[in-house]
Amino acid sequence: MKVKVISVLEDNYMYLVIEESTRDAVAVDAAVPKRVRGRFAPRAAAAPPRPGWAAGSRSGDVPAAVAPRGVGVRGPSRAAGCIRGCVEHPTGGVDPCSAPVEWLLEIVRKEDVVLRAILTTHHHWDHARGNEELARLCPGLRVYGADERIGALTHKVTHNQELTFGAIRVRCLFTPCHTSGHMCYFMWEDGSPDAPALFSGDTLFVGGCGKFFEGTAEQMYTNLTQILGALPKETHPSTGLGLQRDQDGLDSAPGTWVTLALQKVFCGHECTVRNLKFALKAEPENEIVKKKLAWAKQRDDEDLPTVPSTLQEEFLYNPFLRVTEEPLQKFTGKTDPVEVLRILRTEKDNFKKPKERPNPQAMLAFDWGLFSPFLEKK
Ligand SMILES: [Zn+2]
Repeated sequence: MKVKVISVLEDNYMYLVIEESTRDAVAVDAAVPKRVRGRFAPRAAAAPPRPGWAAGSRSGDVPAAVAPRGVGVRGPSRAAGCIRGCVEHPTGGVDPCSAPVEWLLEIVRKEDVVLRAILTTHHHWDHARGNEELARLCPGLRVYGADERIGALTHKVTHNQELTFGAIRVRCLFTPCHTSGHMCYFMWEDGSPDAPALFSGDTLFVGGCGKFFEGTAEQMYTNLTQILGALPKETHPSTGLGLQRDQDGLDSAPGTWVTLALQKVFCGHECTVRNLKFALKAEPENEIVKKKLAWAKQRDDEDLPTVPSTLQEEFLYNPFLRVTEEPLQKFTGKTDPVEVLRILRTEKDNFKKPKERPNPQAMLAFDWGLFSPFLEKK
């Protein structure tokens, strides 16, 4: 099982998961638009491939057609649609804002794989807007998700449902809160040395968790501790599930501990630095937070992704997974884990919000009441 990390929009990730024996591929969160807006900026120089950043459950390569985040271009402001997340277009131009559906299909062609399905974590446009066009261009494409609001949905899935794509097995994990129909996907291959991969959408981030747009702290607590947090952090290479002694001697002598793969976490956004800055505020003495933040800043400076992390390490620095730890109880002034989580989320929501100041002319127009006809409810 190979996972390609594809950076799109301001800070979104979509993924292409490849089953290497059948050459089937599954896309997770197709955030690509129907077509590219605006003109491609000419490239000053070809971006060299950057081997070394993990692109997969198995340590992968950089997709030839994908420039890592922000290579060569800092795009326009968010107000104009994006900040960065530059991608290379097959024609050679760099579009700092968006990647068209055709471009994803170009990667599929270059990889010599067949796109069989899309797994959508939730209905937000920055995770699902490519679905309709991909479904139109790829007849028979299956679109999985748990929310009727997901575009082009063909297969509604439920909690713990299992799917199979060649040797790839998928377990659907329902995690409502960020949206009421949010689904995470846990993937593995039996008998493979590749680590299983958790695609956590906007529920679990590296160092953080998603906003509670359509749910409660109770729900997120269940998601993080009983659904995602309860997944095996290390896995047996033969079964892909759970830490265990080698009973059958397939990997070593029976009864001995075998080398275990750490489960990888692929989330929906690159927001690690911001998350860890908050984690450090909440837990200023946590040395692991400091180290991870320094590492994430370095990656950010080099426009390299910070995914994947591992579930095991998330428990060491992610405050939303550490709600029973004393420093976080102290920070929030609560002891009940759900209350700790609730306060943490509120604090994070108010943590260094980007300033959104209208320009002076707009402020004057507002003062003069020029906007009032537009503000009135219809
Ligand atoms: Zn979202």
